[in-house]
Amino acid sequence: MSTSSENFATKVIHGGSKKNAEGALSAPIFQSSTFIFDSAAQGGRRFAGEEGGYIYTRLGNPTINALEEKIALLEEAEECVAFSSGMGAISGAVVPHLQAGDHLLSDKTLYGCTFDLFSHLLPKLGIEVEFIDFSNIEQVKKSLRPDTRAVYFETPANPNMKIIDVELVARLAHQASARMLVITDNTFATPYLTRPLLLGADIVVHSATKYLNGHGDVVAGFACGSHELMKPVRSVGLKDLTGAVLGPFEAFLILRGLKTMKLRMDQHCANAMKIARFLDSCPQVLKVYFPGLKSHPGHEIAARQMKQFGGMISFEVKSYEAAKKMLDHLKLCCLAVSLGDCETLIQHPASMTHSAYSKEEREAAGFSDGLIRLSVGLEEAGDIIDDLSQALAAE
Ligand code: PLP
Repeated sequence: MSTSSENFATKVIHGGSKKNAEGALSAPIFQSSTFIFDSAAQGGRRFAGEEGGYIYTRLGNPTINALEEKIALLEEAEECVAFSSGMGAISGAVVPHLQAGDHLLSDKTLYGCTFDLFSHLLPKLGIEVEFIDFSNIEQVKKSLRPDTRAVYFETPANPNMKIIDVELVARLAHQASARMLVITDNTFATPYLTRPLLLGADIVVHSATKYLNGHGDVVAGFACGSHELMKPVRSVGLKDLTGAVLGPFEAFLILRGLKTMKLRMDQHCANAMKIARFLDSCPQVLKVYFPGLKSHPGHEIAARQMKQFGGMISFEVKSYEAAKKMLDHLKLCCLAVSLGDCETLIQHPASMTHSAYSKEEREAAGFSDGLIRLSVGLEEAGDIIDDLSQALAAE
């Protein structure tokens, strides 16, 4: 496992600017929509970009900026732009870099709302989106075209943990065209496990609603990359296109959640490994999708590009009916969408997070009606196993 992260625990606590006027240890919450100018001339200079300083919270806010600095440091990006949701970050990062007539090559296994955005909204803007399987490298090579402007994928992918080789896809994409953008959703891996920019990606997006915040009480998103690539993301994607600005209080909560991120991630990963092995031994489970298992087709790539194998597992039972029965018998695990929280969350992608996919599209993307997705929490692994075991016995 080559991903260097020796000082991650220090960076999540001390990284970024800690300076504030009163010397507070925790970042103060600047719960203000706007900022008072000393003079009309100063207001004019700030709008003209001739003078630094705050104007209006959609354009910048000290609490949000403290968080952006820290995330940029963790992703090893020049800049991070915060959004009020992961979907805000994805649309705010992708749309400003594309225009009518461009071709976007995307992996076909995506979070349901991203798939909806790409398959319905982008085509309305004249952007052609083609969905292929990025784990099939020959298909990637064949599908890159002179008018392809960007490639987009998740790794591990939601909901079936498909692993994409970031370094290889980025190399092929950049060989195909120097102006190609490689955009990847790093929500499942987090910068603790994988740093895609170091592997050749150009833009990383996140739903910070998940592991980065980690406590199930915030909806947020980030886009990270070079100053050059983040300029249109901030000045068009955030300011004009989505206006999806993060609230200062939410920024504070994420800053607080980040302080324990390494501890949380280590525990999520250790629990997930035990639970994946348990599920693999269950007669009711047809297949387990977890990159830490040697049987996973992406295991070797994951071992190379991830520090550990993450806290997300999917597994297949024989039908939707069997899945519903199992889910309805759980006593400890929470039947809820989302992921990356302290509580173990479990859900049924085909009828919930991925209901934007038709049955045929789901099958083509590689997930069945019997697939169940598990976000392994921080409880005792044995307690989670006992709960899954009794619910599976009822199935
Ligand atoms: N990306 C992935 C991989 C997700 O799982 C999600 C949500 O579940 C999103 C993006 C969207 O994030 P948000 O719900 O914060 O808008």
